[in-house]
Amino acid sequence: MNDKILALKWRPDYFDDLEGQDHIRMALINALDEKRLHQCYLFTGTRGVGKTTIARLLAKGLNCEMGISGKFCGKCESCVGIKENTSLDLIEIDGASKTKIEDIREILDNVQYKPTKSRFKIYIIDEVHMLSKSSFNALLKTLEEPPQYVKFILATTDPQKIPLTVISRCLQFKLKPITTDILNKQLEKILMHENITFDIEAIAQISKEAKGSLRDALSLTEQAILMSSTDNKHISDSLVRSMLGLISQEDSLNFLIKFAKEGVNCLSKALIFFNAKGVDWLKLLKNLHSDLHKVAMYQVLSENLFITDASTEEYKRKIEYLSNKFSPQEIQVFCEIIIKSIKDLEFSPTEQTGFEIAILRMYAFRIDEGEFLFKASDMNSASESEGIKRNCLKQNNKQEVVSEQNNNFIKENKIVSSKTEDNNFEQIVEKKIESKTNLTNEKHSFSGDIEKPSLSDSLIKSRNLLRAKEEKKKDKLTTLSAPNGKTDSEGFDKKSSLEEPIHPEKMIINQEKIHSSHLISNLSDENDEFINIEKWSTIIEKLSVSKISKQILLNSAMKKHKQLINLFLRDSHKQLQQKKYMNEIKSELSDFFGEAVNIEVFITKEGITPNERKDFLREQKLTNIKKEINTNENVKFFIENFDAQVDYNNIELY
Ligand SMILES: [Zn+2]
Repeated sequence: MNDKILALKWRPDYFDDLEGQDHIRMALINALDEKRLHQCYLFTGTRGVGKTTIARLLAKGLNCEMGISGKFCGKCESCVGIKENTSLDLIEIDGASKTKIEDIREILDNVQYKPTKSRFKIYIIDEVHMLSKSSFNALLKTLEEPPQYVKFILATTDPQKIPLTVISRCLQFKLKPITTDILNKQLEKILMHENITFDIEAIAQISKEAKGSLRDALSLTEQAILMSSTDNKHISDSLVRSMLGLISQEDSLNFLIKFAKEGVNCLSKALIFFNAKGVDWLKLLKNLHSDLHKVAMYQVLSENLFITDASTEEYKRKIEYLSNKFSPQEIQVFCEIIIKSIKDLEFSPTEQTGFEIAILRMYAFRIDEGEFLFKASDMNSASESEGIKRNCLKQNNKQEVVSEQNNNFIKENKIVSSKTEDNNFEQIVEKKIESKTNLTNEKHSFSGDIEKPSLSDSLIKSRNLLRAKEEKKKDKLTTLSAPNGKTDSEGFDKKSSLEEPIHPEKMIINQEKIHSSHLISNLSDENDEFINIEKWSTIIEKLSVSKISKQILLNSAMKKHKQLINLFLRDSHKQLQQKKYMNEIKSELSDFFGEAVNIEVFITKEGITPNERKDFLREQKLTNIKKEINTNENVKFFIENFDAQVDYNNIELY
């Protein structure tokens, strides 16, 4: 290896050596061969894509002693002079250092003198956008009436800063960033010539880091060569990683998997790991973003995503795993958070802090559909629902064993026998809910999980609502009976037993009637075949399906007739309807109903989906809150006396 740096040593001598700019190469060769020459050429493109290289090739083609040609000889005095930088008729100007009008005027004054030896006097002005306004004006005058023997070749990374009057007098060529494929091949070729061994991954990392610039790729390679040991020149993957402060895509993907499994608990170990690697936190965030992008794409395209790329089986498996762990909405929120964190990184005390905040924020925003659903449907205040519970107890008139500690139903001794299949179905639903509730309670007593009680309470409430409806359906007369001893000991208020029993279904319908009669007809299961929406929501919560399958269900209304289940899926979510999710739904619902069911999906607006109901309840809650705000005396005072305005858009529901 000689002393020359790679970028200079491997600068193309002929158009045929030029890599990655085929469209420009062909255009210039043809123009030279057909002698269709322009006074001024402008090459634009990001740094290191070959602007000045092409300018020099063009100069050779124009001045070769063998004649104007795209296939110049490269051996004549003129060609060698241009290559060695000794030609008197090639004047190279660095626009960045000669910005002043005096500099440009001095150069342009010489335009009137003919070339000393060659055919043309060629001016190459690099970074031409750096010239001052008056310099451009001087240049423009020359460009308007240039002598026949003068050619200008301008190059810039920022064509926006060049006056249009100048651009319009140039033949403009836009150079494209060089693809990583071409960069890879070029680096492999060069390293093989230089007798340096390398890992394919190492070269791929350098190409990726160079972002389309061959010059950057070459100088990074040069740096890697210098860092490799002197007696055994080898560019290894680990060497490039430590040089670039990179973590592998695998590391960020593994982190996401840990995060999906353990939440923020994985953070402390991950920080130790990344710190030991001397990670660049910005790059780590970017890696996470590109992983999440892959997962989001996989959720839509499934296996088709990998048709055109050579990802390993393990990588595919991990992406698939994550696509089941996170919902499409979560992925979108995560991407938003990461992009925001990347932007805010410079304001963080340290980059690591910025990364930590991003992960904590992702954790805080993980959507728990189940929790939210129950909170939203729990419209009544605590005391009201207690009242409902008691009334339900009385109405049911069944033998209930009430647990001393949590007042939850553990066991139901008597199940009202039923004749129709529909009733069987309702009972299965109830029993399932009950058994799962008990399971939750048991778990609670062992694990002491904080979140469980609220969930099981909600389940109990939902169950009681369901039971009350069932009672109504059977058209039983309300029987007022004295509460049993156990409920009495729980502090039962005897006064309330004398009051008119509150019918839970009536309450819900009354609230919802305010808004939409359409919803009511779909909500009641007496005159419609659709399964009651609350029941449907509860069933979905009980199924252990992937996030995507759950999204399909939450956006579908449901009818069940014998072993056939019809899902009325919304158009907005039809792309989720893929075979593997449908199979999962089928098997889970079969498990749930204890019989093999068939699923048919219709893309339609029919019925009400759990998500639509959730939105509706939320909207309703918001309306009530607005009403409350408007009638509040304090708010009125501020509006009347201080011209205050209520910002309704910032109401937050918890
Ligand atoms: Zn020549």
